[in-house]
Amino acid sequence: MFKPKALYCEEEIENYTLGKELLEKYKDVPKVIIDNHNNIEEMRKKQNSEFPNIKRNLIIGIRKTHKFTENHKTSDFLVPYTSSGCTAMCMYCYLVCSYNKCAYLRLFVNREEMLNKIIKTSEKSEKELVFEIGSNSDLILENTITNNLVWTIENFANTKKGKLTFPTKFNMVDDLLNLNHNQKVIIRMSVNPEEIINKVEFGTSRLKERVQAINKLADAEYPIGILIAPVIFVDNWKILYLELIKYLSENLSEKVKNKAFFEIIFMTYSYVHNAINTEAFPNAIKLFDKELMTGRGKGKYMYKDFIRKEGEIFFRDNMNKYFKNNKIMYIV
Ligand code: SF4
Repeated sequence: MFKPKALYCEEEIENYTLGKELLEKYKDVPKVIIDNHNNIEEMRKKQNSEFPNIKRNLIIGIRKTHKFTENHKTSDFLVPYTSSGCTAMCMYCYLVCSYNKCAYLRLFVNREEMLNKIIKTSEKSEKELVFEIGSNSDLILENTITNNLVWTIENFANTKKGKLTFPTKFNMVDDLLNLNHNQKVIIRMSVNPEEIINKVEFGTSRLKERVQAINKLADAEYPIGILIAPVIFVDNWKILYLELIKYLSENLSEKVKNKAFFEIIFMTYSYVHNAINTEAFPNAIKLFDKELMTGRGKGKYMYKDFIRKEGEIFFRDNMNKYFKNNKIMYIV
């Protein structure tokens, strides 16, 4: 259970039900009042080496921008929702690109406003829309602190139209199992070989736990997906990912195998990740590989075409062998 070292809060959070609940829950934790959750100077000025310590704080504020971004993968819109950032520390976390070392967990207490906008947009649309609500954080993790996912599902399940979706790397799903979700919430479990989880995805759930969680969610009739993501081309990647695919085929329940779709995503990385990881985790494996990676815009790296092609062939072949009835939505 995450116990913050300090709370950094905007004063107005006490005007919201969730704000009041969180202030009560953490009444014994030292508190700092901030003007704006977006800009905490004290944090910005800290050294990269302090990244793990910075992540032990909890920031609570009010989300002011609610801009939906069109998306064409497994949803129609990416929606800013009840949190951004995370307490875990995956070394490639895309949030580090956006927030640098300030990729700590921020909670937003104006959840009614955010969910209402989703519901209104959904009801106005002729098409059945899918909203990605977890592109900025991990909502299963967040739910252990705020109960927001339970609240969201309870308040969305009986709306006329639309679906919600989010990915997760955590297994704390028990609170969701008995909810009336009306199959309107698609939960996508992200997996990687256990060795990569150990060495790279610090603070997340083990592979075995994630697989057990997705089996439980399928039993509870949630629509589900599985992300093999991000694929990292470490030296022995073919061995590790083949073991992973076999492990999934042996341990996912028949119910999951009957209905899950897959997404496969190759890792992207950046100069900022490299700087933070080098200073904050000096003994960890190095993810930047100049033989395999190339620049893609300002300070960002992606795998070169030749290795991406090799990866795509590998995954298509092996998925075809072990999961021939499951749709692969994309490999990118
Ligand atoms: S679990 Fe997701 S949000 Fe959290 S650090 Fe890892 S990649 Fe980032």
